[in-house]
Amino acid sequence: MSAPTTSTVDSLRMAWERHFQPTYGTPPVALAHGSGAHVWDTDGREYIDLYAGIAVSALGHAHPAVVEAVSAQVARLGHVSNYFLTEPTVRLGVRLAELAGGDGARVFLCNSGAEANEAAIKLIRRARPGRNRIIAAAGGFHGRTIGALSITGQPTKRAPFEPLLSGVEFVPYDDAAALRRAVTPDTAAVFLEPVQGESGVIPATEGYLTAAREACDAAGALLAFDEVQGGIGRTGRWFSHQAVAPGVVPDVITLAKGLGGGLPIGACISTPRSDAVFAAGDHGSTFGGNPVAAAAALAVLDTIAAADLLTATTHQGERLRAALDHPGIASIRGIGLWLGALLTAPDARQVEATARAHGVLVNAIGDDVIRLAPALSITTADIDEGAARLRAALDKVVP
Ligand SMILES: *Cc1c(COP(=O)(O)O)cnc(C)c1O
Repeated sequence: MSAPTTSTVDSLRMAWERHFQPTYGTPPVALAHGSGAHVWDTDGREYIDLYAGIAVSALGHAHPAVVEAVSAQVARLGHVSNYFLTEPTVRLGVRLAELAGGDGARVFLCNSGAEANEAAIKLIRRARPGRNRIIAAAGGFHGRTIGALSITGQPTKRAPFEPLLSGVEFVPYDDAAALRRAVTPDTAAVFLEPVQGESGVIPATEGYLTAAREACDAAGALLAFDEVQGGIGRTGRWFSHQAVAPGVVPDVITLAKGLGGGLPIGACISTPRSDAVFAAGDHGSTFGGNPVAAAAALAVLDTIAAADLLTATTHQGERLRAALDHPGIASIRGIGLWLGALLTAPDARQVEATARAHGVLVNAIGDDVIRLAPALSITTADIDEGAARLRAALDKVVP
């Protein structure tokens, strides 16, 4: 009789449970490799990835442009710190400044969304000394570090870590009148997601972002848009606020998730209309803008532009939305390849697990929303097949 064998996923799970902080719960699957919108687990099972690592892998898995850029750069020069210039870092900064309006835009590079928002909060402090109020939205998400958490409008995430930054006030999301009332001459900034991602892919209305801009201008406050999830093409525009309210220009934009195509990178950008500038010595990040992550981001930006993935994202988003016609889905929110499917029953976690068993990765948000954020480069065939697998899973859960 042979000894019982332990599968790779079981041994990874056991090691995880023993030695990792239980912040995420033990992941059910161990993924081994990927290509495009497909990933394979350690048992060789294939999945269509309609989630892209939380809207991160903008070009899918192992995209040749990213593989080549990262491999070449790490072989040449991996890290030097911001005491030295490198070509990829500078080129990326120039590209991001151009996307944010060109001359007058200034970029700070870092490593994550939370870090980008921390930079934005400090930039706001620096630019509006003496004003200690920041207005943020209920339901908003800006990250887990103390500053970013302080402007995150989700009480359960905040409560264990209070006291947080003082002077932060939350207003109901997409309520222009409430926002106008909240912005006063001691307001330093309004900090918003143009589309709330973590609370279920909820786009603001155009009028709300316009009202935010007007209220900030009237009070001399800065308008900061958190584009960490919605930026870099997710909505079919470079920035989600351009899809929601094309006429509104913010003072500060934060980026991260999709920017590096899977490599960790973040950015805090002040636009040409903004007077927000750090002084020398105000802020820093050892890894920020390191040339490997910068090379990955340049590959992402180049590929989105060269392959016209902004247009593709709009078309593929419409195709995915149409393919989600199912009695278990009450309605679908979102823009481009960034959708929140509202279920008719609070079965989101069961749908996520059943979808996985049917070979498609999706993400449950709360009890009744399934979030879809596949690679911007996903093929039509993969959308159709991924949606078919998801519908088959929905058939099982909501018959
Ligand atoms: C994910 C996210 C963050 C935090 O990014 P991290 O890289 O996890 O720190 C901030 N804001 C928004 C809108 C996000 O979706």
